[in-house]
Amino acid sequence: MNLRIGIDNCKPGWEIILKQIGVSYTLFSLSDKILPEEFSVIIITESHTLEENNEIRKFLNAGGAVLFSDDSISNISSCRTKKVHYLCSQEKTPFSEVGLVDIFSTIDISTSKEIDQVDKGLKIFSMEPGINLVLPYDINELILNTASRRKKFYADRKELPSEIISQVSKGKLRKIVALSLEYLHQKRDLPFVHLWHQPFVDKNIFIFRLDTDFCSQKDADEMYKICRKNNISATWFLDTDSDNKLKNYASMEDQELAIHCDKHFVYNNFEDNYDNIQKANNKLKSCGINAIGFAAPFGDWNPSLDKALQKLDFKYSSEFALNYDDLPFFPNYNNKFSDVLQIPIHPISLGRLHRSHFTEDEMLQYFLGIIKEKAISGDPVIIYHHPHHKHFDIFDKIFQYVNHENFENMSMKDFSKWWKQRYLLQPVFKYSDKRISTEYNSDNTFIKISTEESYIITKKGDINIDKINLKFHSNPTIQKDLQRARKFHWRDILYDIETKKGKKSFR
Ligand SMILES: [Zn+2]
Repeated sequence: MNLRIGIDNCKPGWEIILKQIGVSYTLFSLSDKILPEEFSVIIITESHTLEENNEIRKFLNAGGAVLFSDDSISNISSCRTKKVHYLCSQEKTPFSEVGLVDIFSTIDISTSKEIDQVDKGLKIFSMEPGINLVLPYDINELILNTASRRKKFYADRKELPSEIISQVSKGKLRKIVALSLEYLHQKRDLPFVHLWHQPFVDKNIFIFRLDTDFCSQKDADEMYKICRKNNISATWFLDTDSDNKLKNYASMEDQELAIHCDKHFVYNNFEDNYDNIQKANNKLKSCGINAIGFAAPFGDWNPSLDKALQKLDFKYSSEFALNYDDLPFFPNYNNKFSDVLQIPIHPISLGRLHRSHFTEDEMLQYFLGIIKEKAISGDPVIIYHHPHHKHFDIFDKIFQYVNHENFENMSMKDFSKWWKQRYLLQPVFKYSDKRISTEYNSDNTFIKISTEESYIITKKGDINIDKINLKFHSNPTIQKDLQRARKFHWRDILYDIETKKGKKSFR
């Protein structure tokens, strides 16, 4: 039995998600015979002909599992379109842990009475007969969406922090697809196997990013001291315009140096972006600093910025206006993939918490909360700070926490290198007589195997699933008043005006 996902049209948004999840997948055609032994799940994203739909029905009747999405919905159920801003998962469903998902687009609502709601909040349902799930969104379009807007983040207090970030919660959509595939495998009584998305088996990675805009040498030194004291290798994105002490950074030990900007601005055209970044690059090179990474001012992203980064041979960049709280991916626009790896981070910085009147202790608790949440869900922890906002004590405590708990500190550069080799893998997973065999060309990429109650993250090889020590799935709890983060607040407008003014002053 092949543990492989088949997809009827591998549009770039789907390719991004399937690569992030790390499943074995391939394009298939409905004009060929499709067998449940050949595909553990097939994904249908297109509207098909009557004959092709018959093939899908035969596959379902033979015990195959199908995930319907994108343009396929109108084929299988009567529906109406509805504009939604966000969806929120229900309690006690296979999707409970997802929480809030920002869509800001239209979705297909089924008007059929014969559907089985799997998660009413997320509008995910299943049809008779056979093993299937329907995701009534245009996943491809949503993943490729590049719009941004101010969004608030949940915290256990009245006033919530906000930032201008990707309009669509792409990381949540990736999670919905991963949970759907896992659910469909379980319904077929098959293990769900995929490449693990971190380089360690039992540890979460911790990446610490610093943007040095308007940072005095004293603040940089203080931050560096705290990093060294706790053995933290941070990735410093340098602002070369406001800083005449770049040589100071070059002498730092065990820290990665990358580029933030020369002028603190992202332009809407290739030439200005190219000139600005090249200027910063030349200043760093004259100090002996060779940067391969970039993080844009304000987390802004646009295709002309990406083109400039490609031309200047940058290996990775990190912009929360494009995506946040997600796994790395190669952006796609004009139907082409960029070769600059995008590394999403958690976008709320201490500066945003300060603006929302968090006390020192509330700031620490906010970051510890994010770190704990990501440790439970197995996601990489990537947070950032501006040394000129000081509060070094908070980071001293955060570093002590990650050193004490099960975290492995990494630089963005090392994570990007590891991710790129994972990206190239084309794993093959087979299953028979309770044994999983794995085939891919890497010794430092692990696999995750999930069954209905439990999971394991382990080395590749020939694995008897009855003989391994599986861990029980954790049950992440989501707050009951999550939707509070999507209620309008007058401060949202105030902060938008502040951002606009702030950007103008740099131009
Ligand atoms: Zn900045």
